[in-house]
Amino acid sequence: MDFKEAKKRYDELTKTLERYSYEYYVLDNPSVDDSIYDKGMDELLLLEKEFPSLITRTSLSQRVGGTVLEGFNKVQHEKQMLSLADVFNKEELVEWVKKVYEAVGHEVDFVAEMKIDGLACSLVYNNGYLSYCATRGDGTTGEDVTTNVLTIKDIPTIVDNKDARFEVRGEIYMPKASLEKLNEERAANNEPLFANARNAAAGSIRNLDSSIAKKRNLDGRWYYYIDAEKDGFTRHSDSLTALDQLGFKTNKERRVVHNIKEILDYVDEYTLKRDSLPYDIDGIVLKVDEFKYYDLIGRTAKSPKWAVAYKFPPKEVPTRLKDIVFTVGRTGKITPNAVLEPVRVSGSLVSRATLHNEDYIKEKDLKIGDLVILRKAGDIIPEVVKPLIDKRDGKEIPFKMITHCPECGSLLVKKDALTFCINPNCPSRQIESLIHFSSKNAMDIEGMGEKVSEELFGEKFLSDIPSIYELYKYKEEIISMDGWQEKSVSNLLNAIERSKHNSLERLIFGLGIKEVGEKMSKTLAKKFKSLDNLMNLTIDELYKVDDIGEIVANSIYSYFHDQNNLLLIEKLKRCNVNMLYLGKEVDNEHNFFYNKKCVISGSFTDYSRDELTKIIEDFGGSVSSSVSKKTNYVLIGENPGSKLDKAKALNIEIIYEDRLKEILIKEKGE
Ligand code: NAD
Repeated sequence: MDFKEAKKRYDELTKTLERYSYEYYVLDNPSVDDSIYDKGMDELLLLEKEFPSLITRTSLSQRVGGTVLEGFNKVQHEKQMLSLADVFNKEELVEWVKKVYEAVGHEVDFVAEMKIDGLACSLVYNNGYLSYCATRGDGTTGEDVTTNVLTIKDIPTIVDNKDARFEVRGEIYMPKASLEKLNEERAANNEPLFANARNAAAGSIRNLDSSIAKKRNLDGRWYYYIDAEKDGFTRHSDSLTALDQLGFKTNKERRVVHNIKEILDYVDEYTLKRDSLPYDIDGIVLKVDEFKYYDLIGRTAKSPKWAVAYKFPPKEVPTRLKDIVFTVGRTGKITPNAVLEPVRVSGSLVSRATLHNEDYIKEKDLKIGDLVILRKAGDIIPEVVKPLIDKRDGKEIPFKMITHCPECGSLLVKKDALTFCINPNCPSRQIESLIHFSSKNAMDIEGMGEKVSEELFGEKFLSDIPSIYELYKYKEEIISMDGWQEKSVSNLLNAIERSKHNSLERLIFGLGIKEVGEKMSKTLAKKFKSLDNLMNLTIDELYKVDDIGEIVANSIYSYFHDQNNLLLIEKLKRCNVNMLYLGKEVDNEHNFFYNKKCVISGSFTDYSRDELTKIIEDFGGSVSSSVSKKTNYVLIGENPGSKLDKAKALNIEIIYEDRLKEILIKEKGE
């Protein structure tokens, strides 16, 4: 990978990880599992290692995650509240220990502690009296959450340490029992469940209504005595004992470990014991015990180098398959889903998992009532791995595929391994179509997500796709509904209005024609310029288009020859939805790239791949990823790989960067 490519990937990763961080730290509502975030962060750190000049002061690797919520008073931390560096397996852990030994020049003792999955918090005392409690925030500035933290009854407000300033840091968390109780209550009230203990704790502490924290039964464990050296301590372990004596709850499971064997034994012990602890831990923290080495070992911008977090790998857990229920997708596809006895896997509560299709269930030999193994393998999607056949007691019910749609009762149709509801008016299909039509890559109607589509459909304000453009008729009714205000309704209606002016490709994709994805929608819009042109094509004409095979041609043709779809398009026309391609027109159809299929390989000094793709597309050409007989030109940069050989073997015109520049200068008239 050259620098240009690395920079592009680095920027992409930063953007994604920043979005995840925002959901995690600011909204306390992550959309992905921690392992996904960690994987991305790993890749980002590897890129930084290879290309150190990518690192800037604002890089994610240099920042402690988190921001301060509006509404709370800000607190400036006297000493930055840092994060911890992570390791994900024992090899990395041993490597880290050896690095510490190297920095110090000999072996040292460590303190091994639980890494409780909660929210870091700082307690600041002045002359023995609690002054305030603050969250970590971005490490430098936190939120003053004193009222909420004080709902934890056993936090001392007066201590026997009369320093002008005395600071203790630790983790506030929700014990497993509290989380279970809370989720049971929420389930009974039809409220969304908390996915994990960390979010539940953070959501309670970072809430402006302190009665919420009070109800949530939070707890705290305290693991840093700040500036303990000034009070005469030489070891972290002794400072924790001192915290015990001052009345702070510390972690009783902590242990001073003296060598690598003891460290690994501790990791093994708590990997086994973690489920029996009263709180969730997501790993084990190791800290060098003697303070005198801390400066020598040093820190990065984000974390100390004298401490590390060993993160547990994702887990497989047994649970009960209580039922198999069916959902209906946009295309009418019926998906069986496992209803599971709720169980915590890799830090989140799982009660559902897709079972894909009938054959999948039969291959796995799943029966209702089975004890099954569940996992979240490296990502967020829970997967039923297998049934525990030897645990069967004969009461399990064999799986039987349904014959009628669970939503509309129509007879289902089987096509290979898949089963479909073919009733176009099936309510589930309608809702899924609304969600897809409004989605970001289709008509991009902000605010019309899953929940809103379902709600407005349920209220009968929405029915089919065109009904979106008549939603304004119900403005007053929607404003009067729970959770809506004049502003949110106006925002939604404005977004709907804006979408009328989208270019054709968005509409084609939004219609949800089978086999027509985003890229194909673009090709069709560019080539045929209007929906009318596209609708009037014969199968043969469609088939002639590059990239369109028999199945796609048939699917497009059938879509535009279905009376229901024609009616739908007619309605959209009446609502003034744009049906023309608004992209850049090619002003010179005799240019070098017009209608030519290109493949790009290697890296170019003056252009990124995206830039080149855009240039070729603006000239009316197209770019594909593999060389075939249909390819017209292969553009070759540095380190091109096998595509160059393939182009030579197929006798396809090869264009190197120097010639490419000449062509572009000529075509652009520069
Ligand atoms: P971290 O959670 O990996 O480690 C630092 C934190 O550990 C400290 O701030 C403290 O709160 C906690 N901790 C618990 N026990 C401790 C102990 N005994 N001693 C010291 N600290 C202890 O780091 P982070 O910066 O808070 O968060 C990064 C992690 O958050 C990532 O590894 C990722 O798993 C998760 N994350 C997830 C998402 C997502 O979208 N799912 C987004 C951002 C971050």
